[in-house]
Amino acid sequence: MISGGISVLREGIDPDRLPRQVAEVLDRLERNGFRAYLVGGVVRDMIMGRGPKDYDIATSATPAQVRQLFPKVAPTGEKHGTVTVFNNGMGIEVTTLRREGRYSDHRRPDSVEFTRSLKEDLSRRDFTINSLAAGRDGTVYDFFGGLEDIAAGIIRAVGDPKKRFREDALRMMRAIRFSCQTGFAVEERTLESIRVNRRLMARVSAERVREELNAILVSGLPHRGVAMICDLGLMDFILPELADWVQVGREAGRGDVIGHTLDVLRYTPARLNVRLAALLHDIGGPGCPAAEILERLKYDRRTIKSVAALVAYCRAGIVRERKEIKRVMGRLGPEHFNDLTGLWRAEARASGTPGGEAVVEGLKRTAEDILEKKEPLRLKDLAVNGHDLKALGIRPGREMGAILNGLLEAVLEDPGMNEKNRLLDLVRRRKTGTGDQEATSY
Ligand code: ATP
Ligand code: MG
Repeated sequence: MISGGISVLREGIDPDRLPRQVAEVLDRLERNGFRAYLVGGVVRDMIMGRGPKDYDIATSATPAQVRQLFPKVAPTGEKHGTVTVFNNGMGIEVTTLRREGRYSDHRRPDSVEFTRSLKEDLSRRDFTINSLAAGRDGTVYDFFGGLEDIAAGIIRAVGDPKKRFREDALRMMRAIRFSCQTGFAVEERTLESIRVNRRLMARVSAERVREELNAILVSGLPHRGVAMICDLGLMDFILPELADWVQVGREAGRGDVIGHTLDVLRYTPARLNVRLAALLHDIGGPGCPAAEILERLKYDRRTIKSVAALVAYCRAGIVRERKEIKRVMGRLGPEHFNDLTGLWRAEARASGTPGGEAVVEGLKRTAEDILEKKEPLRLKDLAVNGHDLKALGIRPGREMGAILNGLLEAVLEDPGMNEKNRLLDLVRRRKTGTGDQEATSY
């Protein structure tokens, strides 16, 4: 029985499409006298015909009762009622039906209370499209108009939007995120409430903001998300450098400075490091290193390093010469070179440079040819190493470093040079002062 009045029961989801592991968990809960439902994103995604990312179950069983029924569990957030059940290699979050207490910090509820009411559990969820539940038989429970909003393509807060964003300010970013992932429009009152509450963004942790920003950037509509973040006044609290840069451009009468950035974003492949680089590549001046911004948002070192390099090479402009291409491939690592060409191509397309995209295409073919021929790119690809030079009486340190780099130069120019004897010969000739043009390049 559902307390709180019966809901709309229109279209259902096909229970045969549920993974066996999920169906088993629902079945076992019900066989033991508990109620169990699929809830949230999984129902939304199944109705929209998209593959769900993960399966969340809400149940009348308490965490202790869930633990008794299933042999393999992890206490994910037991005091919030969540236990992760592992079934045949799949982790399924099983959460006791709950209502939430007061929010005093705009981030998380002060207390959680369990409830018997499915409607109450669904009423604390952020948006109507996320407030759906489904039974084991596929029946969909919709108390807040989520089905209608899916059909109409609308992101609408459940209940009073102003109150909902004050409870948890991250929901403002989530609204934008879902809009970018689904192409749905954010409903007018919900949108207006984001504008009104925008300052509360300052209180959300960098990590939570970062995860939503990431989801926006790798979505199908990253440009729309970034435009919304700016237009709604949230950017000041997420990337103030970008907000300032847009503002200064506007005041200087330079028009829509962010328009180009949005275009580049739109044309880049959906990879997080490339999209982050696109977002940051144009922010004014050398006093604004991408790395610092990303550190503040607590990105990991690998991402920061990759984005900073992409931004630097993007700003430096497209390289054309085979030798230069190899130099960049060597520095970035061949596997990251694709990311750079993706960014370069987006930049060329956004700028509308005639023939720009064709240049990048040509460069990609050159890069493929270089990889196919296994041409040396880095010091470690050289046919000689430090030991070989030591045998010639060269001391490790600055001198050896300079010599190795000189050899790499020669080999980037002519891969045929990359033979031990030829390289050692070059070093010897240079040492005895009989070096020719090539050898004196170091
Ligand atoms: P995704 O496909 O990205 O996982 P999702 O809708 O499943 O999207 P989750 O963050 O996994 O999103 O959360 C699962 C469900 O929990 C949501 O569908 C929503 O019902 C609820 N929820 C999550 N975060 C919040 C929040 N900040 N406020 C209210 N409800 C939330
Ligand atoms: Mg989810």
